[in-house]
Amino acid sequence: MIMSNNNENHAHTTLPSVARFVWMDRAYMPLSSATVPITAHSLHYGTAVFEGIRFYETDKGPAVFRLQDHIYRLFASANAMSMRLEHDEDELTRVVCELIRRNNLADGYVRMIAYYGDGISLTRDDLQTHIAIFLLPWPSKKMKPIRLQISKFRKSDPRTIIHRAKVAGHYVNSYLAASSFDQSRYDGALMLDCDGWVAETTVANIFSVKDSILFTPKPGSILPGITRDTVLKLAQSMSIQCIESNVSMDHLKHSDEVFITGTASEVIPVKGIDEADIGEGAVGHITSQLSNAFNESVRGRNSEFLSWLTRA
Ligand code: PMP
Repeated sequence: MIMSNNNENHAHTTLPSVARFVWMDRAYMPLSSATVPITAHSLHYGTAVFEGIRFYETDKGPAVFRLQDHIYRLFASANAMSMRLEHDEDELTRVVCELIRRNNLADGYVRMIAYYGDGISLTRDDLQTHIAIFLLPWPSKKMKPIRLQISKFRKSDPRTIIHRAKVAGHYVNSYLAASSFDQSRYDGALMLDCDGWVAETTVANIFSVKDSILFTPKPGSILPGITRDTVLKLAQSMSIQCIESNVSMDHLKHSDEVFITGTASEVIPVKGIDEADIGEGAVGHITSQLSNAFNESVRGRNSEFLSWLTRA
């Protein structure tokens, strides 16, 4: 969850306030007017689907990173939940850009959420879908290496939920892990899947590097993140070999480098997991290369990947 006041979001200790103008049910309005009834189905049953998206200052003004892919995932998540969205992708793209302009922001985070309104019985045919979009100012920071603790909470079994969908209710699993690690010694929780393989942190995917090869858990018990995909594509363009497979804890602890990726987290090096130190302690070579390539791409300085940006 991004509204955490501990280090679990890896990026901020406290979040800046929501920007003044928001969009809800096809209208722009001040934040204070955008409210949800206590009878909302998604409040009771966690049935909302959502996206977190970043925009960055570039030489040509603010640009949203991989907006089409995030909107596509929102529709895919809604589809997985049999939720019908009555908006089209172009409309949501226009709204995000307009909100950035209206709020006069250069660097920030977009939260887009689709949810059911009134509905106290679990299933009903006439549930109404709503969409709201709001922004948070979110300046980029250089991320310090973090230490992760393996959580006592496992990732939900993929036979019980649909991990590739970004559904509000799934985050109870992450919330429990994020609320129960030892905050005096660690910066976040790492979750294993139900078979004991490495899955992901509560809000980010994980990568390791061993003998110059990149490894990351294959989809199944993870949200296959858009930042994960960005890193895979960057690695390919830099001729770094990458293997998506089951990753064991033993492999991870004996890796040369480990880092996590996410829209909010970006690319953050991991310097330790439980009692184990990773690599030499300093930020690894491949982690720095990928992190630099990521930072260049989001700011429109990587000519190969300019199509990832939507100018606001
Ligand atoms: N896993 C989980 C559980 C997440 O919440 C996130 C953040 N959306 C990620 C991975 C990373 O996904 P993305 O790179 O698309 O932000």
